Amino acid sequence: MTDGREIQLASRPTGWPTPETFSLVEVRVPDPGPGQVLVRNVLMSVDPYMRGRMNDVKSYVPPFQVGAPLDGGAIGEVVTSRADGLRPGDMVLHGLGWRDYAVLDAASARRVDPDLAPLSTYLGVLGMTGLTAYAGLLDVAAFRPGETVFVSAAAGAVGNLVGQIAKLKGAARVVGSAGSAAKVRRLEEVGFDAAFDYHDGAVAGSLRAAAPDGIDVYFDNVGGDHLEAALGVLRTHGRVAVCGMISQYNSTEPPAAPRNLALLIGKRLTVRGFLVSDHGHLRDQFVGEMAGWLREGRIRYDETVVDGLENAPEAFLGLLRGENLGKMLVRLG
Ligand code: NDP
Repeated sequence: MTDGREIQLASRPTGWPTPETFSLVEVRVPDPGPGQVLVRNVLMSVDPYMRGRMNDVKSYVPPFQVGAPLDGGAIGEVVTSRADGLRPGDMVLHGLGWRDYAVLDAASARRVDPDLAPLSTYLGVLGMTGLTAYAGLLDVAAFRPGETVFVSAAAGAVGNLVGQIAKLKGAARVVGSAGSAAKVRRLEEVGFDAAFDYHDGAVAGSLRAAAPDGIDVYFDNVGGDHLEAALGVLRTHGRVAVCGMISQYNSTEPPAAPRNLALLIGKRLTVRGFLVSDHGHLRDQFVGEMAGWLREGRIRYDETVVDGLENAPEAFLGLLRGENLGKMLVRLG
């Protein structure tokens, strides 16, 4: 047995979660059984979808249970192995974050090589985050060179990559929205053609000014007024990849927007939701292309790293409040 700590769901939030939503609990971690490994986590991801898992509703991932640990993407070092193919010292990507130590079936862990890329990138730009941006833009929205793209939450992990991939793939114009002047400056630095702070007036007006000739693709991370504004400026046969609707994750009321869905008809728009988990077939192609862009310095990525498992709840709450630039991570140990 190993002494460890884990973050449990203390209670289900209504509206915004608070520090009291979580509890840090000391636990005894069992030794690994046959085919299993004991892993000491070194990094974990906090992600917006985890908010949905705090609700007791049927969804595409099961809800977290009150009094049980949260889980999610993490990277850890194998401490003890009873599995072929994994040895102590190996670094693995797996799904049991929110704890110091995890016992895993070796089949549910994927070895990652810290000599090939920084460990954090396997959770971010080269991991689920990057694939979400790549698959959503190129496959779901069927982006084509010469088109104009708008992406919301554009200074976040997924959104920032969407904009940069669109530019690398020949976008005529890329517009991003974000929640502060500093984030807007960052978007301009990494190559967005125009960016605006969505607090500076109605999104519809800001978007019209940033994309006066309209847009072909909207990559939606936010929903609500952002989606309504995008529908307003989409050109005929435009496409929307609905990736997330973070403006609604803590809402207790139904959204007030979009109010203009009838535009779908006259403009013959395609609005398509997607889950990155349905796009695993693109992983090798994505990793090959993204690794090349990173080697050549053609993609820049930001990370916001919070230290300590005990601060993971605060990292998650900070993500929902927009305190992150790029991928929000927690360093453990
Ligand atoms: P981000 O790094 O983008 O972090 C979330 C950001 O959302 C914050 O930094 C904040 O930035 C912004 N935000 C929070 N509240 C609001 C609001 N009310 N209005 C506008 N912006 C807001 O997270 P990810 O890149 O991990 O995720 C981005 C989106 O993609 C999320 O909606 C998520 O659920 C979704 N997602 C979907 C996947 C799928 O398979 N469909 C997979 C992965 C992510 P700001 O300061 O700009 O407000």
